[in-house]
Amino acid sequence: MFSLEGRCALVTGGGRGIGKAIAMALAEQGAKVAVIYNGSKDRAEAVVSEIEELGSEAIAVKCNVADVAECESTVAEVMEKFGRIDILVNNAGITRDNLLLRMKDEEFDDVIAANLKGTFTMTRLVSKIMLKQKYGRIVNLSSVSGVYGNAGQANYAASKAGVIGMTKSVAKELAGRNITCNALAPGFIETDMTDAMPEKAKEAILASVPAKRTGKSEEVAAAAVFFASEEASYVTGQVLEISGGM
Ligand code: NAP
Repeated sequence: MFSLEGRCALVTGGGRGIGKAIAMALAEQGAKVAVIYNGSKDRAEAVVSEIEELGSEAIAVKCNVADVAECESTVAEVMEKFGRIDILVNNAGITRDNLLLRMKDEEFDDVIAANLKGTFTMTRLVSKIMLKQKYGRIVNLSSVSGVYGNAGQANYAASKAGVIGMTKSVAKELAGRNITCNALAPGFIETDMTDAMPEKAKEAILASVPAKRTGKSEEVAAAAVFFASEEASYVTGQVLEISGGM
């Protein structure tokens, strides 16, 4: 597909779900991958082993993206190991769904801290490195919730709409320096995140998917590889929906 030979990637939330699929897909194209985890140490280490079996290089690093100091030490550790970061995938994300009137302050704040502030912090840190390298590919995980809104997700939709605004702004700031920044907006993808939803909510969402099926993490990962590739050098500030037509 697209060659990422010699490229070094940092994928937040790379231990499971969509992040794992992206980490594996980047490695399959030849990239070295820093698999960043928060709680899933064992799963992140398993991803590293899978990547090594492919003949590529990988490391697992613990980082809560909502913590600026942890982001700083993580980026420093990846730089020490790989010497460069060509591809940043801001995939880490959480949901804390509730109806607006029942939503607690901490449910709003936690989602913004992980999904939006975490994306900002990692992008600010890594773009400094990319500017020196005069090369970079930033891929942010938004969501169809951030594009169209979703009942019960005022916090999550706000964070993911924020990611879109940030993506377009960063794209404009860095376009002249050979650094692109794009967003993926998945629909209903089978992962732990969607497993946790009530059956009725899942049925309601599925009924609104023209493709009449859920998506797979690998289908999101394929689009991430495109945005991360050298070939996508003239594509920036874009939001690609991977949603079966939602
Ligand atoms: P998931 O299965 O719930 O996995 C979430 C990932 O995020 C885990 O790897 C987790 O790491 C990591 N994470 C969460 N909070 C973190 C923090 N504070 N610091 C570092 N890592 C953190 O979710 P997913 O479905 O794969 O979703 C991945 C991304 O796609 C998210 O941004 C999500 O919003 C977005 N998305 C998903 C869907 C979907 O249908 N699944 C649709 C649209 C958008 P640990 O396990 O190590 O804690």
